[in-house]
Amino acid sequence: MKRTDTKKIKVGNVFIGGQDRVVIQSMTNTKTKDVEASIKQIKELEKAGCEIIRCAVLDMEDAKALKKIKEGIKIPLVADIHFNPDFALEALRSGVDKIRLNPGNIEDETKIHQIIDLAKAKKVPLRIGINAGSLNKKYTHSIDAMIESAKDHLKILAKYDFDDICLSFKSSDALETIAVYEKASTIFPYPLHLGVTEAGGLLDSAIKSSFALGKLLDEGIGDTIRISISDDPVKEVIVAKKLLKTIGLFKDTPTLIACPTCGRIQYDMLPIVKEMEEYLNTLNKDVKVAIMGCPVNGPQEAKRADIGIAGGKDKALLFKKGEIIKTIDQKDAVRILKEEIAKL
Ligand code: SF4
Repeated sequence: MKRTDTKKIKVGNVFIGGQDRVVIQSMTNTKTKDVEASIKQIKELEKAGCEIIRCAVLDMEDAKALKKIKEGIKIPLVADIHFNPDFALEALRSGVDKIRLNPGNIEDETKIHQIIDLAKAKKVPLRIGINAGSLNKKYTHSIDAMIESAKDHLKILAKYDFDDICLSFKSSDALETIAVYEKASTIFPYPLHLGVTEAGGLLDSAIKSSFALGKLLDEGIGDTIRISISDDPVKEVIVAKKLLKTIGLFKDTPTLIACPTCGRIQYDMLPIVKEMEEYLNTLNKDVKVAIMGCPVNGPQEAKRADIGIAGGKDKALLFKKGEIIKTIDQKDAVRILKEEIAKL
């Protein structure tokens, strides 16, 4: 099922599914019970463009802390819970907007019933998260096993007439990720939360996630994404935005066009690219910036950008909306580019 046809669920004030829009998520790596640190990190993520945030709940203190965290943030809050139904009940009482929980991992049926009743009363959806690395022992590891596992969890929810559901099927292998989500999209009507899990550091994760999620998203599969990176979660949001923009599913983030440089370069371009890249990563603005090395490809690319420079000897030509504005010194390039971007 394509993202435009999946069931639409509501997480706080954000819709997932049933639309051609992909929601960006991330997860805190602070201790959830450290409310101050968690709120601080979530605010940074909000500023970067994160639309939904998830916090791990390891004990009752974490579950209770969600109430204060919720009060201190703007975006919807998701509680990530494994095994313990009492944490889920407490998280719901704390006012979370979604729960990640696999009902098949809870043995006590009465508790499952209580969780579902409370989730229904509070209109809180639930994500069933199947991870290749933590499949129940009764399944032999395979794509079919991940699908079967989801079906088993769904059966429990169906018994209590609950269908406010989102699904994920994560693997650390990009090809397996593609295969399982492609299959899931032909079986389930629920929105799909995409991610390559345990994808590694920034470079590895950006490559694996862009390949797997890019392919799926381009096929119309996937309603929300989380890029998993072993680093500051703000980077997850930046990569997610860049990926979505590259495939035309997101607008409000800058595009940087920069040449790799070669022997023709006659100004010190790479530090300008580095500083501008860091700056652009902080903006939520649909702007195209070109930083080019020399007159071979420079002027054409710079002309096609909203703002751009094409290098000469220790200097560069400044272009704005296709017109040459002036010649600038390389030492002024970053300042002038920032000033011009602010005016756009
Ligand atoms: S734009 Fe000029 S400096 Fe940059 S890679 Fe192309 S030829 Fe080399």
